[in-house]
Amino acid sequence: MKTDVSRILFDKARNLIPGGVNSPVRACRSVGADPLFISKASGSRIFDADGNSYIDYVGSWGPMILGHNHPEVVDAIRNALENGTSFGAPCEFEVELASLVSEIVPSLEMVRMVNSGTEATMSAIRLARAYTGRERVIKFDGCYHGHADSFLVEAGSGVATLNISGTPGVPKCLSELTMSVSYNDSESIQKLMETVGKEVACIIVEPVAGNMGLVKPLPGFLEFLRKITEEYGALLIFDEVMTGFRVALGGAQQRYNIKPDLSCFGKIIGGGLPVGAYGGRRDIMGMIAPVGSVYQAGTLSGNPLAMAAGVATLKQIKSPGFYEKLEKTTSSLVDGLKAVAKDAGIPVFADYVGSMFGMFFTEGPVNSFADAKKSDTDLFSRFYREMRDSGIYLAPSQFEAGFVSSAHTEEDIKLTVETAKKVLARII
Ligand SMILES: *Cc1c(COP(=O)(O)O)cnc(C)c1O
Repeated sequence: MKTDVSRILFDKARNLIPGGVNSPVRACRSVGADPLFISKASGSRIFDADGNSYIDYVGSWGPMILGHNHPEVVDAIRNALENGTSFGAPCEFEVELASLVSEIVPSLEMVRMVNSGTEATMSAIRLARAYTGRERVIKFDGCYHGHADSFLVEAGSGVATLNISGTPGVPKCLSELTMSVSYNDSESIQKLMETVGKEVACIIVEPVAGNMGLVKPLPGFLEFLRKITEEYGALLIFDEVMTGFRVALGGAQQRYNIKPDLSCFGKIIGGGLPVGAYGGRRDIMGMIAPVGSVYQAGTLSGNPLAMAAGVATLKQIKSPGFYEKLEKTTSSLVDGLKAVAKDAGIPVFADYVGSMFGMFFTEGPVNSFADAKKSDTDLFSRFYREMRDSGIYLAPSQFEAGFVSSAHTEEDIKLTVETAKKVLARII
């Protein structure tokens, strides 16, 4: 596969942008490849600057649940565009999106729009700290909650992939307030809460983890977090930036039937444009300025183009049968990958929730970041490179989830599984 144009662009970019990229994992360093520069995308396919076409399972890292360039979303953005790109004043789209979101996710009695998942989680913990009058935050190893100072402790894929500690530049007094515990380890949480529970503002969790590869919550784990936070007067924050509108229409909180105090969204909520949101209980959200004294603002927050894209996307995913079909496509992909790995005699632990999937090159089961790190990352790297050279675009890290969109066809899945079969036979 010829990738000359990508290589030339990357050489230029490296001189101008740190690592040649505006977000680290994109550089493909851990898998020993150079990034592809993408020139366009449509449906389940993306096209690089050299004109090669790939079946895409990254989906811009989650947002593209309808596939790329969905006509309804494109129309909505185009129509909004005709009326101006930014007002810095309230617009009708914001009300429409807020109302759709709180209808789909009933725990969101009120919601505030921001521009990224990072902003959503960062603002949510500020609010949790203000509401409880406490400073400590508990998170889980391998969970990523954006790159705000308080979260760069055992922060999952990006940091893990690059093998850096993740905290240079973060004041010690802040990182000391963040405690990180092994995912699915209720016992450790119990012990930790017994010692510092009264100082804990919130426990924040990816209700299905997707930033250390796909790791499911064990039965009872999320229920336990709900119970223990109530017991100690701490807030439970679901970071649904990835799982929201992904693992079910109403996100993980619907799928597992848990009501968090606050939730964070991003990715799908913006339909491919930069949007994040946080929301939850009315009494807590009422503390945000201008009603309350917790400050949080944004020049481009509630941007009309972004809101229009979000509204158009949420309207599509609400259609009956949407999630059933999507999950069926995903299960045939994961079943197919498992089968060809088994035939090749390669130990693989693959799983999915809704249209989020993961495949670890290890026997499994994988219930924590420590389990995930047992994966053969060299084998994954070879798998990644050969798949990409054969027209299948996966996330360039063993510690990322993959995504199926409603644009992926049965033929796409069949071709992907056949390609994986050939590639696995070559790389062992
Ligand atoms: C992607 C992600 C974020 C960060 O969102 P950005 O829009 O990249 O800032 C936060 N939390 C989770 C769970 C994510 O997957």
